[in-house]
Amino acid sequence: MSDLNNIIDETIKVLEDMKRSGVTHVDVSRETLEELGRAPRGTRVESGPPGEPRRMTSTPREGTRPTTTSHKQTAAGGPPTLHSVGNVASELAEIEARAKVCVKCGELSRCRHSVVFGVGNPRAEIMFVGEAPGRDEDMQGEPFVGRAGELLTKIIAAMGFKREDVYIANVLKCRPPENRTPLPDEVTNCLPYLLSQIELIKPKLIVALGATAVRALLDVQLGITKMRGHWYTFRDIPIMPTFHPAYLLRNPPAKKEVWEDMKAVLEKLGRPVPKGR
Ligand code: SF4
Repeated sequence: MSDLNNIIDETIKVLEDMKRSGVTHVDVSRETLEELGRAPRGTRVESGPPGEPRRMTSTPREGTRPTTTSHKQTAAGGPPTLHSVGNVASELAEIEARAKVCVKCGELSRCRHSVVFGVGNPRAEIMFVGEAPGRDEDMQGEPFVGRAGELLTKIIAAMGFKREDVYIANVLKCRPPENRTPLPDEVTNCLPYLLSQIELIKPKLIVALGATAVRALLDVQLGITKMRGHWYTFRDIPIMPTFHPAYLLRNPPAKKEVWEDMKAVLEKLGRPVPKGR
C-alpha cells in the first residue's frame, strides 16, 4: 500500500507541476480510462433541456451492497484501490488524511484551524451536504456544530434518526474567511473529496443544504427556492435540495418548508412520516 501511496503522491506532484507550468487539461480517451479501470463502464452525462440540471448516469447499481472485494476508484484523484464493504471507514480515513494536508486552496489552507472532513455512519442511508465549515466547525473540526448545526441535529432527530446514524459533510472542507461564499475554484478543488465520500458511503439519498451544495452536485443555476421540494438525481442517487439551516435561523418561517422536504425524504426511504408539525 505504501508503494501505491508513493505513486499517487508522485503523480499528484507531476500534475501540479504541469498545472503550474500552464497545462490546463490532459486528453485521455474513454477507452483508455476504461482499460485502466478509472471510469465505470457505461457512465455517461445526459444534457437535459436548458435550465435543467445535468444528470450523470451510470449502469444501474445493484440493489444490495457488494459483499465481495472489488477494485474501486475514489473520486479524490487516486487510482483504483482495493475496496470492500468492511473497509469503507478506513478508506474514508485515508482520504481524510489527504485532505488534512491539502493546500489546493492557498487562502483557505493558510487561514484554517482545521480541515473539517465529515462525520457519521459510513453506511448511512442519508447524507446531508452543506456549504462549508463556519467558525465553530473550524475550531472543533466537525461539520454543523454551531447554532445551525444544533438546528440540523434537531431536524435529524425529528426525522427519527440520531446524528450518528446519518453522514454529514460539506462541499468545502476548509472555512472561507469571514464565512464568505466559496469561490468557484475552491469548489472545483474540493469537490473530489465529497465525491469520494459519496462514492464510498453510497447513501440511499442526499439532502443538499443550500444553493452551494446543490450547484456543486447538480451543476445547475436555478435558485434554491425553486429547486427545494423537488427530487433530482446525481449518479443514480436521489437528491433533495432544501434550505440551509443557517438560512432557517435568519428566516424561521422557512422551517415549515424544510420539514415538508424532510417528510418527502422519509417517504422516499419508506420510513414512517410523523404527522403534524
Ligand atoms: S477547501 Fe478542500 S481543496 Fe481547498 S485546501 Fe481545503 S481541503 Fe484542500
